[in-house]
Amino acid sequence: MTFIDSHCHVHFRAYDADMDEVIKRTLAAGVFLITVGTQKDTSRHGLEVAARYEGMWATVGLHPNHLTKQEFLDEAELEPVKTREETFDMEVYRELARHPKCVAIGETGLDYYRIPESADVAQVKEKQRATVRAHFDLASEANLPVSIHCRDAYGEQASLIAEYVQAGKLARRGVIHCFTGTAEEARAFIELGFLISFSGIVTFSKNVQATARALPLESLLIETDSPYLTPAPNRGGRNEPWRVKDVARKLAELKGVSVEDVARVTTANAQNLFRLPPEGV
Ligand SMILES: [Zn+2]
Ligand SMILES: [Zn+2]
Repeated sequence: MTFIDSHCHVHFRAYDADMDEVIKRTLAAGVFLITVGTQKDTSRHGLEVAARYEGMWATVGLHPNHLTKQEFLDEAELEPVKTREETFDMEVYRELARHPKCVAIGETGLDYYRIPESADVAQVKEKQRATVRAHFDLASEANLPVSIHCRDAYGEQASLIAEYVQAGKLARRGVIHCFTGTAEEARAFIELGFLISFSGIVTFSKNVQATARALPLESLLIETDSPYLTPAPNRGGRNEPWRVKDVARKLAELKGVSVEDVARVTTANAQNLFRLPPEGV
């Protein structure tokens, strides 16, 4: 049985002391992984790490939370996150996207939940929209899928994707990662050819469980978003990518299928979306 953690950040500082052990532990557990870039430096570093392992790939992008300088507690409340402000540099990301281990552009998207109180809200939203467009242009040009991060903006996010899809762009489509919306909101993305990815939140949120029950397995991916969002019953600590099996187990329970079925279908979905070799190399 093979699982794919379609979205983690195993190359982040939270793993400074033991990153290689965590990756080896994950691969030994039959879990392949895609580590996701959120800024220039983390995007570059993710590719360097992925290049050292079979069964590991990376994405490059600029997370919406890094468009403004701010400080907040991350989901796992490990410690306050201080972000540096960065503006999307097309030339830099275009170069990174050529790396053979780069399988998607992102994470990018609209995050209207986490806008600093001191900021000009309209201005921040406009910068987010412009940055998403730049990622979509790059993904279209590089013929790669996109990894979308979206909070409190599913409707607007779907419209932005629809605009590109209708223009014949984003041919490789993409995934809405860490989905927490309703089944109806998910269907808007599925109709545009996108996949929906569930994180450890599905192990404890009744609303997300209801959404997962309503969607076909053929449209789903699984992820951990490590180091964040540790699944129940271990919530709060640092997450690790092999825990994607907890997400798979919960999905199997919710949908009344076997864990093998969840592993087989979500792995095939990830291989198709990211064009991963079937043997994982
Ligand atoms: Zn995210
Ligand atoms: Zn993430």
